[in-house]
Amino acid sequence: MNQNRKIEMLEKLAEMYPEARAELHFTNPYETLMATMLSAQCTDRQVNRVTPAVFARYPDVLSMAEAREEDLYPMVRSCGFKSKAGNMIAACRKIREDYGGQVPDTREALMSLPGVGRKTANVVLSNAFGVPAFAVDTHVFRVCNRMGLCQAETVEETEKQMTELLPEEDWGVTHHRLIWHGRRVCKAQHPLCEGCALRNSCAFVNQEA
Ligand code: SF4
Repeated sequence: MNQNRKIEMLEKLAEMYPEARAELHFTNPYETLMATMLSAQCTDRQVNRVTPAVFARYPDVLSMAEAREEDLYPMVRSCGFKSKAGNMIAACRKIREDYGGQVPDTREALMSLPGVGRKTANVVLSNAFGVPAFAVDTHVFRVCNRMGLCQAETVEETEKQMTELLPEEDWGVTHHRLIWHGRRVCKAQHPLCEGCALRNSCAFVNQEA
């Protein structure tokens, strides 16, 4: 797909989702990190149901670093994976010990925390610190490859191609627009192509025709 067509689709996507933003609820880097860790393989809605009680009981890195897994796990059990509670506590202990209790603002430091991979690090960089980063989750990977914005086999290659395509200042907002489109229209099992405003340019539809 040529560059002009990709840019047209990105402009259309911006028109479709002028309000696109993170759907997880958080107010500071600590909450951003904890909520993003909980969101792996879980809906944002479910994470938003549990985090008010978690943040009330453990309002910062230091209190979470002192948490006991047997107390935290029942509070986050509905978000899946027992390892999430252990990783949240372990990540905060490492932040306390290695980063003076402040959530670090570099990808390398974030990825050194237990349970934090590149996607989570990119989400935190972009949402908590305003550092340009393009996080590739399951929606972003599916949607931008389907549409033809990139042609990638892996999330790493998707991130590389998309960050080459987009100006840095658009990385964060485009990530949110692609997620919104993936949740509302370009769904995993049954994309709603009939009513999709990107239909005329989309590689998926035009391959099928
Ligand atoms: S036309 Fe279909 S496949 Fe293409 S972006 Fe829209 S919903 Fe997704």
